[in-house]
Amino acid sequence: MKHVLQRRCAGDARVARAAHGHAARDAVRRMQRARLLLLTLGGVFIAPLLAAAGPIEIVAAESVYGDIASQIGGASVSVQSILNSPNQDPHAFEASVSTARAMAAADLVIYNGIGYDAWAAKLLAVADVPGREIIDVATLARKNAGDNPHLWYDPAAVSALGEALAARLTRLRPEQGPAYARGLATFDMAMQRLRQRIAALRARYAGTAVTATEPLFDYMADALGLVMRNGRFQLAVMNGTEPGASAIAAFEHDLRSHAVKVLLYNRQTSQALAERMRRIALEAGVAVVPVSETEPPGVDYQAWMLGQLDALERALAAP
Ligand SMILES: [Zn+2]
Repeated sequence: MKHVLQRRCAGDARVARAAHGHAARDAVRRMQRARLLLLTLGGVFIAPLLAAAGPIEIVAAESVYGDIASQIGGASVSVQSILNSPNQDPHAFEASVSTARAMAAADLVIYNGIGYDAWAAKLLAVADVPGREIIDVATLARKNAGDNPHLWYDPAAVSALGEALAARLTRLRPEQGPAYARGLATFDMAMQRLRQRIAALRARYAGTAVTATEPLFDYMADALGLVMRNGRFQLAVMNGTEPGASAIAAFEHDLRSHAVKVLLYNRQTSQALAERMRRIALEAGVAVVPVSETEPPGVDYQAWMLGQLDALERALAAP
């Protein structure tokens, strides 16, 4: 599944390293792995030496998952997120050598799956690194190829990720287990506030018809009980294909006749057709709520979602 886009970003150049001295630690760990291999071949077991290594190195394909890993892992993890800027298009990302290196050196890799970050699945398949943990969020969320890949808009999938993270981190560092359980409890409390907000909005606005330029917000719209219109158009835009004249006409009619209360606009892509719908919505006086694929820097997952829900509520509540 891919978007065809006008803009391609060199997102890899913006890879953020969450901790200092990362490269040096990578080198140390590579040496330790090499020694482990040599010593294991010699029949000597040196696991205690590895356990004494620095923080757990986590590479997250998307910054939203990196953030959740930081929330649960706290000070004992060092997180690097590959896709981390709302100014790039994640569907157009191409991995570089530095991405490949980071993923090969990681203790734990988290990626979305079902084609959203096919580059990550490919890099993981290149080499089986002994002891490396891998979390594929789509599998956790029981999604299959062809399902909507924007899984972080599904609060149930995000909660499942939180639990999986606490379990995997505990497997990597059993002595830190109680700290990961506390991290998970704090994360769950924040998720509970998000779930309550969703329930309150649902009680008020369930059944309201909305539309979107892409199926980015669909899991959340479902959780809110909103009626999402023009699905065919959205899938075509996401896959970079032509929606067809009747789908375009139906979309425009929905906006001009106010059959929908809100247009959710994916501000991270620059499709001409999506932009046209945004313009028509503004002309017709239909509220446009921008939503993003990538978690903005400086806010955590819960704050990001709550901020978007606030903007959506302002639009839903308007006369
Ligand atoms: Zn997308």
